Amino acid sequence: MSTGHLTIDLSAVIANWKALDQISTSETAAVVKANGYGLGSRRVARALARAGARKFFVATAEEAANVRNVLGDEHEIYIFAGHMSGDTDMISDLGLIPLLNSLDQMVMHLEALPNHPFGVQLDTGMNRLGMEPAEWGAVRDMALSQNPKLIMSHLACADEPDHTQNAMQLTSFRSMTDGVSVPRSLAATGGILLGSDYHFDLTRPGVGLYGGAPFANAKPVVQLDIPVIQVRDVAVGEAVGYGASWVAERPSKIATISAGYADGLIRAMSGQATLWHEGIPCPLAGRVSMDLLTVDVTDLPIPPRYLSILCPEQSVDDLAAVAGTIGYEILTSLGGRYSRRFIAP
Ligand SMILES: *Cc1c(COP(=O)(O)O)cnc(C)c1O
Repeated sequence: MSTGHLTIDLSAVIANWKALDQISTSETAAVVKANGYGLGSRRVARALARAGARKFFVATAEEAANVRNVLGDEHEIYIFAGHMSGDTDMISDLGLIPLLNSLDQMVMHLEALPNHPFGVQLDTGMNRLGMEPAEWGAVRDMALSQNPKLIMSHLACADEPDHTQNAMQLTSFRSMTDGVSVPRSLAATGGILLGSDYHFDLTRPGVGLYGGAPFANAKPVVQLDIPVIQVRDVAVGEAVGYGASWVAERPSKIATISAGYADGLIRAMSGQATLWHEGIPCPLAGRVSMDLLTVDVTDLPIPPRYLSILCPEQSVDDLAAVAGTIGYEILTSLGGRYSRRFIAP
């Protein structure tokens, strides 16, 4: 087999959900958008449902349809994008719950699907999705008379506990929703860690479930092993890869392995990333190609069959840091060519 192998530990996902659920003073949902942060939303959702999660969140109706297939009808699936034109049949047939983001969406929803469950998304300062205070003020009585399932908002700076915008958004959320008897939700992973003031009735962790920052105590979930295609000797002064950017300073062994930027190992890792073999670091030699990486394995005692890039020695966030990005982007970029093997809980 020549593709990379992703090993996804579903018991670690469940342990992370339970740990965040312990911290949450409220019910804990699970965010499985972007195909479960690149790992496989159906397997993740099914495992978390068995572990006790009752509410799931996705970005779009299409994603919700994929998850609905593996969940029972008693599980609630919420859509952050709300009710978009063209989604009415899917929302109705699959029993999805749109989080209405604007007066326009509210009108569309109530006209197309009166009596169908919905939630409301409020903007408390991120200026991305949801109704602003004035808009909410205008539709509030009408919306509340239709018994929304949930009122939610999202924090822009929750991964920076000292950022003043956290308290500002909390105050804004309270002033828009205090006294309302509908369940409320404000916190994602970062918000859970800000403390119980932010928890309300439901928390919505995503990245922490998958082992990423800011949940520092997360168990790692993914291992990525990449097969070696060939190993060659490179003499002092010879160059490796596009642009001839790496030049051997000692007699070297270079392994060419079967993954590249088309598999989510972004080109910004060129000259930066390290691969690992049984605890021994092997630096990337030169640029990332579309399908291949070249790696300096001179220090290994024998030619390896595989090298690992996500492993106990290098977390998703470690790799993100060397590539100048965040763990979320590393996870959601994990490519479609990898074989995915799930360790069952
Ligand atoms: C992605 C997202 C989440 C989950 O955020 P994490 O930081 O991954 O925990 C929660 N709520 C909304 C609105 C989101 O877009």
